Amino acid sequence: MLSQQRYRHFIDGEWAAPDTDSWFPTYDPARGVVLAELARGAAVDVDRAVLAAERAFTIWQYTDGIERARLLLKMAHKILDEKEHLARLESLDTGKPLSQARTDVDVASRYFEFYGGIADKFGGETIPLPGPYLDYTLREPLGVCAVIIPWNYPLQIGARGIAAPVAVGNTVVLKPAEEASLTTLELARIADEVGFPPGVVNVVTGLGEEAGAALVRHHRVSHVTFTGSVEVGRHVAAEAGQHVIPVTMELGGKSPNIVFASADLQRAIPVVVRSIVQNAGQTCSAGSRLIVEERIHDEVVAGVLERFKALRLGPGVEDPDVGPLISDRQKARVLGFLETADKSGQAVLQAGELPSDLAQGNFVLPTLVDRAPLDSQVVQEEIFGPVVAVSTFRTEEEALTLANGTQYGLVSAIWTRDVGQAHRIARQLKSGQVFINTYGAGGGVEMPFGGYGLSGYGREKGVEALRHYTQVKNVCVHTGV
Ligand code: NAD
Repeated sequence: MLSQQRYRHFIDGEWAAPDTDSWFPTYDPARGVVLAELARGAAVDVDRAVLAAERAFTIWQYTDGIERARLLLKMAHKILDEKEHLARLESLDTGKPLSQARTDVDVASRYFEFYGGIADKFGGETIPLPGPYLDYTLREPLGVCAVIIPWNYPLQIGARGIAAPVAVGNTVVLKPAEEASLTTLELARIADEVGFPPGVVNVVTGLGEEAGAALVRHHRVSHVTFTGSVEVGRHVAAEAGQHVIPVTMELGGKSPNIVFASADLQRAIPVVVRSIVQNAGQTCSAGSRLIVEERIHDEVVAGVLERFKALRLGPGVEDPDVGPLISDRQKARVLGFLETADKSGQAVLQAGELPSDLAQGNFVLPTLVDRAPLDSQVVQEEIFGPVVAVSTFRTEEEALTLANGTQYGLVSAIWTRDVGQAHRIARQLKSGQVFINTYGAGGGVEMPFGGYGLSGYGREKGVEALRHYTQVKNVCVHTGV
């Protein structure tokens, strides 16, 4: 188990010091102190990892599906065996509440279980042709998959970034975010301990513009899965385009909860609140917009503020309701949005006060910006903090215009008792996932996940992800007459 204060890369089944002997600090977001030092990966380290992954691919691609499945299932079990250790490390590194981190461990394990369950069952199809022909498709792995992930859910996103491609015969080089890399290194260690061959799972830590950029540029990489900001995503897609490889882009969101007057508010309000305070709002699919029918506006806003008031803030490892933001930079950014909203005359509402002993950490009180216009910054831009922007509508058409009124389209939720209305709206929403009278649904390992518009393209999770991690070969045989 990892215990050293200096963390090396994990390449070709071994801990590997950075070739340049460069290191960088990673911080505890609750106290602002250095937690550990991480290897600062350079192009030479990335090259070592990609070549190791390429060597491993020559064998792994032909390893029987059942063998791959068994290793993935072993990994699922071992992750659960180490649940408390992994959850504490994740909580310490990201600042998220311990119970949320425990859920993240469960979801990480579930990814390996889900893809372990399908690794020996995923194949092509036969296609009927006229005449004496047999036509079928093979689903073949792509090769070395580069996986670049953000800091908000390293365990969950790291697990899906490894489990899905590896299940269908690819090998992986994963670059975690510089702010939170520790648990992805643990995943690499566990993969090694359960028996994955060296080189199938590699983790190179480092800065985005160094290790991340070198990985995307590497000509032996056959696919890039990028989860992160739109700004960096654009750059990564352009780089990958230079060597014509497929990319899955999981970018940001500005996801709405649409609440009709007919909704069961007792059920809706707690979920609406959870959807914006979970992980202190640092979730790509956070419910950062609340679109509410005018005649229930006052009731819903009062209900949300009442729940905000009851939330306990604190360091993640003390298992509060809301932890700190990841960095002081992120805190300043969120407060900047609130200042702009306040200056432009929007009602910036909080309930309670920040305890004085939390002043050193990156804490922000859950906040509601009321009656924010559609073109305002808090409605249009991803804030990545516990801030929900409220708008109102009178008709279903208005609700849809508001919901589809940003450039993002990751997740939406509809709250109504009218079944016809729910499905009518679901069809018209520009959003990769739509929830009806619920939100998120327990990690959603089984459900295809990805965005419309600026939220990205391609799909992760579920069986759908495996289509992106394989390429189709069509084989046509003349069977004789
Ligand atoms: P980010 O874009 O700054 O960084 C993401 C990753 O990209 C990090 O590992 C970083 O080191 C790397 N990177 C940075 N520059 C790079 C470059 N030039 N080349 C290659 N890699 C580079 O994002 P972040 O701040 O870590 O995360 C927050 C963002 O992630 C938010 O926008 C959020 O919505 C998004 N996100 C999306 C999903 C999803 O599944 N759709 C999930 C979680 C987070």
